[in-house]
Amino acid sequence: MSTHPFLGLAPLSTAHFASIEDGVARLLNTTQDVVIMQGEALLPLEGAIRAAAGPGTTALNVVTGPYGQTFGDWLRDCGATVIDLTVPFHTAVTAGQIREAFAAHPEIDFVSLVHAEAATGNTNPVAEIGEAVRAHGALFYLDAVASIGAEPVLPDAWGVDLCVIGAQKAMGGPAGVSAVSVSGRAWARMAANPRAPRHSYLSLLDWKQRWIDGGRTALPHAPAQLEMLALEACVERIEAVGLDAVTARHAAAAAATRAGALALGGGLEPYVHDAAQAAPVATTLRAPSGSVASGLVARALAVDPAPPLAAGGGALAGEMIRVNHYGPDATRGAVRASLTALGTALADQGLTVDVPGALRAADRGWHRPGSGQSAGE
Ligand SMILES: *Cc1c(COP(=O)(O)O)cnc(C)c1O
Repeated sequence: MSTHPFLGLAPLSTAHFASIEDGVARLLNTTQDVVIMQGEALLPLEGAIRAAAGPGTTALNVVTGPYGQTFGDWLRDCGATVIDLTVPFHTAVTAGQIREAFAAHPEIDFVSLVHAEAATGNTNPVAEIGEAVRAHGALFYLDAVASIGAEPVLPDAWGVDLCVIGAQKAMGGPAGVSAVSVSGRAWARMAANPRAPRHSYLSLLDWKQRWIDGGRTALPHAPAQLEMLALEACVERIEAVGLDAVTARHAAAAAATRAGALALGGGLEPYVHDAAQAAPVATTLRAPSGSVASGLVARALAVDPAPPLAAGGGALAGEMIRVNHYGPDATRGAVRASLTALGTALADQGLTVDVPGALRAADRGWHRPGSGQSAGE
């Protein structure tokens, strides 16, 4: 029989599994326990909420995009009292808004927040928010799936108790593998929650009891080798070039896309108004009035299927264009191809665009990330 790279893999040893967890802990610069979940990121996202929240919980759920809405649904399903803090999707939430919510509802003991939203293109100031959450004493749950690899994610420094990541965005890895860092406070909250999943695939407490507390010598079930090896390769690749270099590449791609889109014309605009609130992982654009975003994207991809373009999800499909410049697409080439294809689609609609000007602006933006706001230069 011929060999196949995906088939006939040896079982993963416990030491190997533990070493991959340690690699993820290094990536997060954390001394907290890291639990790798063998599923898409929704697995730890849901598992952590169901473990930490229950009928006695009052949760401040920050909604800056569709994932926040999902978290609110899970929290309510757990029996928690949920206070939704919803901000317009073209902005970020501020630490001041979080403090106001604590002042109005001192009983809040859980905060759920998405760091960066690939679906809306915004990123939230987690360091400042973390200070407010720590001062109030609430448990802090963070979805860092779209930020890990694209910008700093520092659960220990920021006081995050449950920090969930996935490999499929800026880490450039596969969907199907994810992880969560868990603070001592979060473990205590789970242990005190009679409704926390136990003896369940969703259960984080199972991993603590059967894996962590036993000194990581016996795995509860056979690990998914393919996903685990891919996660290991992802972490090794990031460590080989340096996490800072990977995040810098994402920041450059975001700055270049924003500058290029502004220079392109045709009525295309950044969806997130303030460049400082725009996520490095992906850039969202507002389609010109009179155009339908999903139609423009379809037209652009018909010209060139390569660029990482997508229309917004659900209700945003009419107005939002996403440039998913993450992982292998956090390159100047992907940004340039995206702008060129969008320019062609806009021109096809009779709109006036300047593709060469957009590419020049993108090149300048790439070299000076953070200056994306001043693309009118
Ligand atoms: C991508 C993403 C996830 C993972 O969900 P998928 O849509 O399955 O990739 C979770 N949270 C956020 C904020 C994300 O951007």
